[in-house]
Amino acid sequence: MNKLLLSIVLLAAIMFNSCNQKPAENNTRIDPEIETNIKNLLAEMTLEEKIGQMTQLTYNAFMENGELSESKIQEYIVYNGIGSVLNVDSATFSLEKWHKVITSFQDAAKKSRLKIPVLYGIDAIHGANYTNNSTLFPHNIGLAATRNPELIYQSAKITAKEVRASGIRWNFDPVLGVGRTAWWPRFEETFGEDPYLVTQLGIEVIRGYEEDGLKSPAAVASCMKHYLGYSLPRSGKDRTPAYIPDVELQEYFLPSFKAAVEQGSSSLMVNSGSINGVPVHINKYLLTDLLKNELGFDGVVVTDWADIQYLYNQHFVAKDNKEAVKMAVNAGIDMSMVPLDLSFYNDLIALVSEGEVSMDRINDAVTRILRLKYRLGLFDNPYPEEDAAKNFGLDEYKLVALDAARESVVLLKNDTASGGKAFLPLNKGSKVLVAGPAANSLGALHGSWSYIWLGADNPWYPKTTKTIVEAIEDKIGKQNVLSNTQRGFIEVTEKDIFQLKSDAKGADVIVLCLGENAYAEVTGNVDELGLPYNQLQLAKAAIDTGKPVILVLTEGRPRIIREIVPGSRGILMAHRPASKGAEAIADVLFGDYNPNGRLAFTYPAYSGDVTTYDAPYRLAQNQKPQWPFGFGLSYTKFEFGNIVLSTDTLIANDILAVQMQVKNIGPIDGKIAIDLFTHDIVASIIPPQRRLRKFTKIGLKAGESALVEFTLTREDLAFVNSQLERVTEEGDFEVIIEDKTAGFYYKEK
Ligand code: BGC
Repeated sequence: MNKLLLSIVLLAAIMFNSCNQKPAENNTRIDPEIETNIKNLLAEMTLEEKIGQMTQLTYNAFMENGELSESKIQEYIVYNGIGSVLNVDSATFSLEKWHKVITSFQDAAKKSRLKIPVLYGIDAIHGANYTNNSTLFPHNIGLAATRNPELIYQSAKITAKEVRASGIRWNFDPVLGVGRTAWWPRFEETFGEDPYLVTQLGIEVIRGYEEDGLKSPAAVASCMKHYLGYSLPRSGKDRTPAYIPDVELQEYFLPSFKAAVEQGSSSLMVNSGSINGVPVHINKYLLTDLLKNELGFDGVVVTDWADIQYLYNQHFVAKDNKEAVKMAVNAGIDMSMVPLDLSFYNDLIALVSEGEVSMDRINDAVTRILRLKYRLGLFDNPYPEEDAAKNFGLDEYKLVALDAARESVVLLKNDTASGGKAFLPLNKGSKVLVAGPAANSLGALHGSWSYIWLGADNPWYPKTTKTIVEAIEDKIGKQNVLSNTQRGFIEVTEKDIFQLKSDAKGADVIVLCLGENAYAEVTGNVDELGLPYNQLQLAKAAIDTGKPVILVLTEGRPRIIREIVPGSRGILMAHRPASKGAEAIADVLFGDYNPNGRLAFTYPAYSGDVTTYDAPYRLAQNQKPQWPFGFGLSYTKFEFGNIVLSTDTLIANDILAVQMQVKNIGPIDGKIAIDLFTHDIVASIIPPQRRLRKFTKIGLKAGESALVEFTLTREDLAFVNSQLERVTEEGDFEVIIEDKTAGFYYKEK
């Protein structure tokens, strides 16, 4: 039998044998040699060894007396054949320490009967978290404001390089949930409220992680998460129930995951919550029928942290751990992030022996896990690679982090009240009071997953990372900066208000840094969306001094600031700009960088009006956002020509070209991101007033103009109808760009 024929026969056999699996007929990533290896290895594995592969334990499970314990490693890896490990203890590691840790685990794996390497994973959500001196990029909410896919791709590539440099090859990222409620504490991890934006940017991250093939020393396996509907808990609080109708799930939440599967993402983490009363970890329709069978996902489905246990001790859909394991594995879970013990391992062995979980299901899960290990090159060399280590900490990474941070800053207000001249940028000769709880805090600049999980000010931030005060001092000289803000994020007290009033006397301008300290997951739940009362009082006191006040917001979600907007002369939204964030803020404040970020969400003015831009007419009539989706000012001025369409009737599969002349009519060079929306005038289900369909970004020198071009097809106009079909209905549409609109008709034939 020749090699080709052998591969075809094997592939057919694998497809036939795996009951839950449909390894995507069109999946060009299926490598026949790998599939053969898997089949051979699987044939040699005992049940215990297979279930060991499906078990993931956290680093702490291998610790004794505060240290990584060789005997625990022996026990779990050699004896139980545990296949995967995640996370760290409570501190970052140096590259050398990581190398030692990974080597210990892989040495142990080599001593196990079948020598199957360990798959190590971490959460490098916005840069190589958990490693000393890595580069962190703005959180996704800021990256989305850049509207710059190339920059996001580059950030992801650097993250992949720095993670792989430490010997780790699996990254639990990207977050592909759509941030449709600002209450949710993981809002900062999302690319904002629009599914198209999330999809386009999410696939750039996967490209950055995986495009060179997983064997490359510059690659990591991505893990899209959290599938599905995690980002819209009804209460806004993390891990509380979501109730999302199918039509909304398909229209808003599924597209980013579907695109990520098509992009070839290697793995997927499941939503820790529930949808419509069913925890997603036991939702066979979502995990198997839709994801694996319909979308053809051939990667690993991993649980979130302890989520099988939560089925019986938090969700109460199972009576005990064993029942929970059965439900989850039968629904389609391939690997359990247990994370501390052998409960999953022991119960699953029993369940298979009792016939409650089929051997086919186990084989499917293990096939997927081994496939990932083969693809990552772990069977060739599981150890930290020299070629990868060389990629750590290059100077150029900081430049990308600076670019990303600069482009992520959104200028929300620039007062022109005083005679038409905008207040910002500030004069470098001014005496500046830099105040507020975020002025001297690295936590506020970085947010979650920053060197450690919580990200709040901690000893593991690199010594070179600057706070806002320090960056402003560097920019305009220490003699021009006044600041009494203590290091760290300390909530405002009466004393701070008093201090600010007295400090303001010596200042020409007050840069007031407000926002949120770092938080992660449930620790970021809030009961009020408004900025904390004392921060608002501080801002009011600053405004009352009569000195001009510029607000700088470092926050992971929009906290309501309605009362202090009118009195502020300028407002910057910096999101969580990370490693080079302080420098980027200083650059914008003092005119060394012309801001061009655009909000990736609707900034609410009221807690009772937390909505999204793509509202239907009746809601749109009632929205009173502080700043709309896509808002963002510049230090220059752009003029937009009329929208020119290539035809007034788009027919079937034809292409509609959209053009617009854009001119920089202001005094300085600048970049501008342009969002294109469409509006379906009449539809079978109530149409949103606008939907983002395309975006682009251009740079124009002062006085320069350019023709911006987009194309639209029927697919760009489609929506999920009440029968859950994706359709484009005949009728009138509008294209909307900036304040211009143009109409056309879509005809099916
Ligand atoms: C988070 C995940 C993360 C996992 C492992 C969970 O609590 O929800 O996003 O990947 O922990 O650290």
